[in-house]
Amino acid sequence: MAYRITLIPGDGTGPELVEATRRVLEATGVQFDWDVQEAGADVMDKYGTPLPEAVLDSVRANKVGLKGPITTPVGTGFRSVNVAIRKILDLYANVRPARSMAGIPVCHEGLDLVVVRENTEGLYAGIEHDVIPDEAAESIRIITRKASERVVRYAFEYARANGRRKVTAVHKANILKATDGLFLRVAEQVAAAYPDIEFNDRIVDNMCMQLVQRPHEYDVLVMPNLYGDIVSDLCSGLVGGLGVAPGANIGDELAMFEPVHGSAPKYAGKNRVNPTATILSGALMLRHLGEQAAAKRVEDGVAKVIADGRYVTYDLKPTRDDPTAVGTQEMADAIVDAMQ
Ligand code: NAD
Repeated sequence: MAYRITLIPGDGTGPELVEATRRVLEATGVQFDWDVQEAGADVMDKYGTPLPEAVLDSVRANKVGLKGPITTPVGTGFRSVNVAIRKILDLYANVRPARSMAGIPVCHEGLDLVVVRENTEGLYAGIEHDVIPDEAAESIRIITRKASERVVRYAFEYARANGRRKVTAVHKANILKATDGLFLRVAEQVAAAYPDIEFNDRIVDNMCMQLVQRPHEYDVLVMPNLYGDIVSDLCSGLVGGLGVAPGANIGDELAMFEPVHGSAPKYAGKNRVNPTATILSGALMLRHLGEQAAAKRVEDGVAKVIADGRYVTYDLKPTRDDPTAVGTQEMADAIVDAMQ
């Protein structure tokens, strides 16, 4: 039976990345019935909103979605569609694995980190206003016991289910005593129920330094929304960059898979960006569906092509203007070939 999946191509480089990913996923032999839904800057004129209600209804009905990145105007304009989807559908845990792959030169070999980011509140609640226009503005940062508890619990359950040894709570509770203090306190309380998993905590600035110098000391990291956004990009940089960093947004009933990176608009339509992050997000989706063997075939295909180093996009070549770099679709073709 085919899996009915909401497929959101997004905008910018999203449509070409999602197309490459769809081809790779179909090459596993798993059957999909794609429910394609439009969202993002490109559909504003057509629907009067970048997030038509039909998109949300589709995910609610299908329970699982795969999404390309969507542009958010900087400083003005509509609020983030990506954040709205996570919040409205209560996809509270944003899981962002960062794993080294042979063929990508990095400072630290053999890394295998997972950032679990709280996905529904914190500064991302976007509660802000001008106090005096152009002079002072205020943003309100909400941290609740409920959201902290379920995301930390998710991190521990993830650690247990995936044979992980340690969970680190990341915070700034020395300065933000009420909000991050609550997050840390809740994390300590949840940790007490998981004596089989080691637990510690780090202040976020020190965490960033330690991830650059001694990343092997860490395993699963759980943190409030904005820290998770920043630290997961840092972790992607440790393993080869945004082009190879997949992500999953998980709720109790619904799940949406998307790369960590954004719409990289300057490359839109150029068949240039790396499809790996979106393809590996597809592999995370296959695992979520229980298709472990198919997920492994995709991951092995990606690993083979990257280790080989010939059919990879510019970001995985020694220099950005390497003339031997291939395009998005050609790298996807190579992955499909490597999976046969
Ligand atoms: P970005 O992730 O789009 O791109 C930053 C840089 O990373 C690019 O210029 C490029 O050098 C590199 N990069 C990103 N994806 C790559 C890929 N697949 N292959 C190779 N290199 C890649 O971040 P940005 O420029 O800060 O944001 C662009 C837009 O995307 C903004 O509107 C932002 O709000 C949005 N955004 C969306 C999401 C999402 O859809 N979930 C996430 C982050 C940013």
